[in-house]
Amino acid sequence: MIDKILGSCIRSIPSKEKVLYLTFDDGPHEHCTTKVLNLLAQHRAQATFFLVAAALQKHLAVGRSIVSHGHHIGNHSLDHKYHHFFLNDRFLMKWVRSAQDVIEQSLQVQTIGFRSPLGIRTPHLGIALRKLKYPLIHWNQRFFDTQRGLPRKAIENRVSHFRSGDILLLHDTHTKHHQSFFEGLELLLINAQQAGFSFKAIPNNLVNNTDKLPIS
Ligand SMILES: [Zn+2]
Repeated sequence: MIDKILGSCIRSIPSKEKVLYLTFDDGPHEHCTTKVLNLLAQHRAQATFFLVAAALQKHLAVGRSIVSHGHHIGNHSLDHKYHHFFLNDRFLMKWVRSAQDVIEQSLQVQTIGFRSPLGIRTPHLGIALRKLKYPLIHWNQRFFDTQRGLPRKAIENRVSHFRSGDILLLHDTHTKHHQSFFEGLELLLINAQQAGFSFKAIPNNLVNNTDKLPIS
């Protein structure tokens, strides 16, 4: 019922394989993103980075480095502003599309879809994305890492709750909880891999597959 009002939203991508989809929002960030890329490479993990177009314009080299490491790229809006959600679908179409254009032209890649700032969904956004045939990709596992980093306890308790195809929300803009974040991220990678999961990038053909995916 709620989807009829807000439009569809992908929160997980069920798979027979034991796979998890790490996603990092709000970058690229000058220092944090590079450290995330190094850690992912060390653990042979692929991920998806939902970029803010304005941040990408400031840190283009970091954005290119994400692509050269083989990760996928999503659209996390032009400017990460929330008040746009009060505007109509024609404005939102332009807002989403202009971020898509900046990101795709800067990096010469296809973006896999849109993730809205703060996960906000409105009927107008649903209409705009449907008209653009552009999937809305959120998450079903979050860690509140911008507020508290990634404390060891939070990770140890979570891995047993992961299901194949879960989409994990993290951020690659840490300065305040930097140490806790990187220690927690490494623990997450190690523990999940020990439990048999591999980390992959969200596929970039979801536009054609959204009918088959569970929506919420
Ligand atoms: Zn964000």
